[in-house]
Amino acid sequence: MIAQIIFLILLAAAVFLFTRNVRKIIRNIRLGRSEEITGDTSLRWYTLLRVALGQSKMLTRPVAGFFHVIIYAGFIIINTEILEILIDGLFGTHRVFARILPGQLYNFIIVVYELLAGGTIIAAIVFLWRRYVMKLPRFKSSDLDGWPRSDATYILIFEIVLMVFFLSMNGADHLLQHRGVGHYVKAGMFPVSSSSFGLMFSGLSDSGLEWIERSAWWLHITGVLIFLNYLVISKHFHIIISFPNVFFSNLEPQGKFNNLDAVSLEVKLILDPSATPPDGEQPVSKFGAKDIFDLSWKQLMDAYSCTECGRCTSVCPANITGKKLSPRLIMMKTRDRMEEVGKTLDENLKAWELSALRGEFRGEHGGKTLLYDYITEEELWACTTCNACVQECPVNISPLSIIVDLRRAMVMEDSRVPSELALMSSNMENNGAPWQFSAMDRMNWAEGMTIPLMSDFAARGESPELLFWVGCSGSFDDRNKKITRSFAEILQAANISFAVLGTEESCTGDPAKRAGNEFLFQMQAFNNINELNNYGVKKIVTACPHCFNTLRNEYPQLGGNFEVIHHTQLLQQLLLDGKIKVMDDHALKGRGVIYHDSCYLGRGNGVYEAPRAVLEALKVELKELKRCRQNGLCCGAGGGQMFKEEEPGNKRINTERASEIVESGADMVASACPFCMTMLDDGLKQQSGERTPTMKDIAEMVADSIQR
Ligand code: SF4
Ligand code: SF4
Repeated sequence: MIAQIIFLILLAAAVFLFTRNVRKIIRNIRLGRSEEITGDTSLRWYTLLRVALGQSKMLTRPVAGFFHVIIYAGFIIINTEILEILIDGLFGTHRVFARILPGQLYNFIIVVYELLAGGTIIAAIVFLWRRYVMKLPRFKSSDLDGWPRSDATYILIFEIVLMVFFLSMNGADHLLQHRGVGHYVKAGMFPVSSSSFGLMFSGLSDSGLEWIERSAWWLHITGVLIFLNYLVISKHFHIIISFPNVFFSNLEPQGKFNNLDAVSLEVKLILDPSATPPDGEQPVSKFGAKDIFDLSWKQLMDAYSCTECGRCTSVCPANITGKKLSPRLIMMKTRDRMEEVGKTLDENLKAWELSALRGEFRGEHGGKTLLYDYITEEELWACTTCNACVQECPVNISPLSIIVDLRRAMVMEDSRVPSELALMSSNMENNGAPWQFSAMDRMNWAEGMTIPLMSDFAARGESPELLFWVGCSGSFDDRNKKITRSFAEILQAANISFAVLGTEESCTGDPAKRAGNEFLFQMQAFNNINELNNYGVKKIVTACPHCFNTLRNEYPQLGGNFEVIHHTQLLQQLLLDGKIKVMDDHALKGRGVIYHDSCYLGRGNGVYEAPRAVLEALKVELKELKRCRQNGLCCGAGGGQMFKEEEPGNKRINTERASEIVESGADMVASACPFCMTMLDDGLKQQSGERTPTMKDIAEMVADSIQR
């Protein structure tokens, strides 16, 4: 009875502390602004099963993934065994399930528990080995200096100790069962404990064994209850919170950034001064996020779900090339800031908490903000918005969404923007392009060609089948004008009814949006959407993945609903339909070609196959780079980087990618993005060596290889 009372007190204290700390975490998450989660619920359940329960993203790195699955399964499944321990502890029974469940079933469960316990010990040792003997860079990183590194170590040691208690308890129990001592019911096989701890204990007396079994039982359950409470102050809370976090994760294409409604309202009023704001709508005083209160609850939940594994940082092009940005650190700093604010709330609980939850607890709390005091401008401006971190995260966290919201506050609230980006914005405002070119020169690429304009069709009261959205780079950049010409030639060869907007085309606003200037983006977007809707445009093709992404994903919410395809998708279709035919003998046949995935086409929109299918139709010898498809390395242009100097680092991102291309030994690089073309062409020119591969857009390769 005394044992039962002690057990009850221990359990109640652990549950009380755990609940209290979890409530604090929930309170901290609720400091964020509201965010409506929409989308297909069945897809959400499927994502939960696949990513959280099935650990699908962990397994993309097989060794770490395999051992993590063992630890994870060990944790989840062995803890079901706690149920039996709880009943035994509360009611003074022993192995209660052995009496209730059919013998074979109980036997099977014990075998599974034991194998997992043994596996967990091995996996934890492997993880310690990777950290302290192999010293993998992502664990050696200064991101983890101090408590984060100790935390990871403590937890691995904790897991080993818990499993040792579990197996010693079973080992002693098994021997006692066989000796027929007291209440030790015969309960089948104990494969791991009997062949390890059981052997060690076999010379002990019955009372010695009983002492070990009872001590290990108590130590195991006490350890589990301590572990439970340790979770909530450690990154290991992800074991619990990653499930809802994955369930609520973004199901939209990764390239799609949210449009700020507050900005839409202002822009609409500017474009149409006679319009009146909807009833009750107040002018908005804040844009973007300066502190945790301006991030959404989901972004804050992301921070609590971060496992600090560093996979995101290990694939981040900015980090790889020595910039200060580490997406893992973005998440850790967001959590640190939440914890700091939470601590103040605890100290001044009532007054602070009430005002915080009413949304009044905002601004520079404690003289600090997440932006500037925790996360610096240099870190934020290093991001290329390539989505590699989002793709890689095993629990579907998006460090990028926080980076973009912080950039928005820097740009729109504080006007803190690199001078080159300020120039880019003013060019866009004045010329409708990020460079200082006159809008009247937009059609210069078509010199000597007869390219139909939308206005010509409209004058005849007709509309073409397709609008070819040329994009700024394809219109003004001398190298990329060749891509535009090639693609237009293909459309003509295939007898496609198409037109361009010509001088009426204006930048989609993509670089402004990624650089935090949502206001300018929406000005561009609303004007373009008006133009396109006036012409009754239904279907758009573009050779630029950035335009493709913006028109396809970000315009619909603002009233621009078009079918948007990328030129590689159209080329694939034209080849399949036989509307263009590859010559039997052309210069590219058999040449060793590698394809560089554009971030906004690949990760951003999942277009991986169309470009490859076109290259295969050209019968080139298609090779893959080490980092390709979902793992492709950014060229360094995205997120406004194209228009500014890279942040300080140890090399340029395009140089890193160009070296990888040269190492691949390919003859030629195929690209499907004018920005990648500029960056990599430049990177390749700087490579020393006997020969560097030439670079072509897929449209140019097709134009060179088809029958005319
Ligand atoms: S989006 Fe790309 S550059 Fe930005 S933090 Fe993530 S991985 Fe790094
Ligand atoms: S954000 Fe995701 S990938 Fe990055 S450290 Fe956290 S859990 Fe790992």
